[in-house]
Amino acid sequence: MTETQLRETIVEVGRRLYARGYTASNDGNISARLDDRRLLMTPKSVCKGFMSPDMMVVTDLDGKKLAGDRDPSSEMQMHLEVYRQRPDARAVVHAHPPIATGFAVAGIPLDRAVLAEVVTTLGSVPIADYATPSTKELPEAVRKYVRAHDGMLLANHGALTLGADLLAAYYKMETIEHFAHISLVARLLGGERLLSRQEVDRLQGLRGMYGIASPAPICPPEANAPGADPLGNPSDCQTVLAPESEGTRLVADFARGAVGRDGEIRLTYRELTALIEAAVREIR
Ligand SMILES: [Zn+2]
Repeated sequence: MTETQLRETIVEVGRRLYARGYTASNDGNISARLDDRRLLMTPKSVCKGFMSPDMMVVTDLDGKKLAGDRDPSSEMQMHLEVYRQRPDARAVVHAHPPIATGFAVAGIPLDRAVLAEVVTTLGSVPIADYATPSTKELPEAVRKYVRAHDGMLLANHGALTLGADLLAAYYKMETIEHFAHISLVARLLGGERLLSRQEVDRLQGLRGMYGIASPAPICPPEANAPGADPLGNPSDCQTVLAPESEGTRLVADFARGAVGRDGEIRLTYRELTALIEAAVREIR
């Protein structure tokens, strides 16, 4: 892509992020590699829905501004860290899509083997520890996962994706938000049925067939063994929750007074009424 095309594509990605409600006001930032030593980056304090190609800032890989009338994004350090850790990454997108960000705020990673497309393209979507936006803590939090993941949630903040080009990074942001939406609905309906470990392994095998470059393999099942670090080593493999047997529910069935994972007892309205009536009878 020429520099002109890259600038135009950043504008288009920004427009889509804003139109889909993934950013509000001046949130979010987008960058791309211009060549081996230069980056093109969205400027600070601009709504991503209303950018023009001339607004972009050119920096080197240390964040030094080389060209542009404006200052680079306040989250530039996070982008620079991605490019340092991932020579294969040619574009980075950061936004606050509301449902995925809701999971990030609730501290719930998107790491369950639920959808074939997600297992194939992203694997798992972990949560990088909370760090104050625009400080150097944020790149440090991202570093832990970025070598093995193309997308992650940022605790109490938003989401980050990277890709071989701008649209690939943008589509991963769409996939994360779509996955978060489906996960939320499934949980409201009583919890996901997980894909089996065998199916996850099969899907991993398909990655090569469809030419999907995966950042890292799924961590071996031993990583989930008692006493093992439940995260495996997040810098070289991905943790995906997938049971050994088919169709197991990770979350207990919420039917008829079942005890949920959090120890909460769930009753139907009728069961609750019956309990109250019984209690009232006893008092009398
Ligand atoms: Zn942000």
